[in-house]
Amino acid sequence: METSELLELDRTLLWHPFTQVLTAPEPVPIASAQGATLTDFQGREILDLISSWWVTLHGHGHPAIARAIGDQAGRLEQVIFAGFTHEPAVTLCQRLTALLPHGLRRCFFSDNGSTAVEVALKMALQACRNRGEDRGRFLAFDGGYHGDTVGAMSAGVSSHFFEAWRELLFPVDVLPVAATWLEDEAVEAREAAALARLDQHLDQFGAQTAAAIIEPLVQGACGMRMHRPVFLRGVVQRLRARGILVILDEVMTGFGRLGAPFACIEAGVSPDLICLSKGLTGGALPMSLTIATEAVHQAFLDPSIDKAFLHGHSFTANPLGCAAALASLDLLLDPACAQARARIEQRHRTALARVVAASPRAARLRIQGTIAAFDVVAPEQGYGSELDARMKRFFLRRGLLLRPLGNTLYLLPPFCITDEQLDRAYAGIEEGLACGFSD
Ligand SMILES: *Cc1c(COP(=O)(O)O)cnc(C)c1O
Repeated sequence: METSELLELDRTLLWHPFTQVLTAPEPVPIASAQGATLTDFQGREILDLISSWWVTLHGHGHPAIARAIGDQAGRLEQVIFAGFTHEPAVTLCQRLTALLPHGLRRCFFSDNGSTAVEVALKMALQACRNRGEDRGRFLAFDGGYHGDTVGAMSAGVSSHFFEAWRELLFPVDVLPVAATWLEDEAVEAREAAALARLDQHLDQFGAQTAAAIIEPLVQGACGMRMHRPVFLRGVVQRLRARGILVILDEVMTGFGRLGAPFACIEAGVSPDLICLSKGLTGGALPMSLTIATEAVHQAFLDPSIDKAFLHGHSFTANPLGCAAALASLDLLLDPACAQARARIEQRHRTALARVVAASPRAARLRIQGTIAAFDVVAPEQGYGSELDARMKRFFLRRGLLLRPLGNTLYLLPPFCITDEQLDRAYAGIEEGLACGFSD
C-alpha cells in the first residue's frame, strides 16, 4: 500500500488513543521494527526511547520471543481458562512467583494494565466482604495513574485525565506522595509531612479502608515522579498495621526497569496484591497478571458460589501471551540483561546528568534504573500545551521517539539500546534545550 493511501484510510477509519484528531499531526506509518529502531515507510529510522509506551522490554522483533509465539501457535493458540489449564500458564506462574516476595503466589490472568488493577480492586473489596469485615473505602496516592477502566480511573482520579466521566467514578481518598529528585535537599521534611498526613488519615478512616493502591518508586503517567524506597516502606508499614490490603501497581515498574526484577524487591516491601502487565510479554502481546497472597485467596474458599471471584475475560491466560512471557523472562534473567540495565543507568547518571546540569531550561533530574526524567522549565504547563506538541515534533524530526508527559521529558528505553543510541538521544535533548525546541 502507498503511504498516501494508508494515511487517507487511517484518516477516515481510525480513532487513535489519547489523540485530539482535529489538531494532531498525521500518524507515522511504521513498516517494521528491530531492537530500539522503528522504520517508517520511506525507510527512515526512528529511535524508540520510550519502549513504545513502556511495553517493549528487550527491543522490538526479538527472535526468541517471536519463535516462542510461533511454536506455541502451532500447538495451542487459545483455550477457555475456566475449567481448563495449560502448561505455559502454569510454568509462567511457577517461575514468576519464585521471583516475587514470599507470599505472593495466586496468579489471576487478564489482558492489560487497567484490567489487572480492576481485578485487584475487586478482589480486595470482596476479600473484606467475604471475611465479614466492614471496610468499603479505598485509598490512592496523588498523581497515581492506574488505567482507563472505571475502577482504575477512580483510583487514578488525581491524574485529572478523567473529567469527562466524573459521574461514573466511585470516591477514593487521595493522599500525598513525597516526590523527589537528585540533589533534593528537602526530601526528608517532605517525607515526614506526607507520612504524618497518612497517619492522620488512617487514625480517622483506617478501620474502614479495604485497600490502598500505589505505583511503587516511580509514578509513571503523572510525569515519572519518583519517591525513595524508605518512603514507600513507611507507607506500606502504616497500611499493614491497620489491616489495609496493599496493592502495588507495577504495570510500569515491573520486569527490571528499576534494576531489581520488581520495584517491591528494590524497595524491600511485600504487598498483598501486585499488578503486572506492559513488560510481562516483553511487549509483544497484551497480557496481565494480578498476583495475590495465599491469605487473600483463602478468603474466597467457601462452599457458596457467591464467595468465589466471579470475574474473567475471554482471553484469560492466552497461551501465546504466556509463551511470549516465558521467553521474555529467560532474557530478563540472563546476566547480560542485568549488565545492560546497569550500563544504561550509568549512562543516564553521567552523560544525561551533564546535559541537564548545563541547561537553565532543565530541572529536577531523577533517575531510577533505566528510567530518567527531568522537567523543562517553561511558562507553559501541562498536557497538550504548545510546548508539549513542539517538543514531540522537534524530536521526531531528528528521528527520536520521545513523548513528553506535560513538561516532563523522560527516557524509558528497551534494554538492548546501545550507548551510541543513548548519546544520540542526549545530543537531541541538549540541542532542544539550547534552542527551546524550535526549529
Ligand atoms: C499503563 C499503566 C496502566 C494501564 O495499563 P493499560 O495496559 O494501558 O491498560 C496501569 N497502571 C500503570 C502504572 C501504568 O503505567
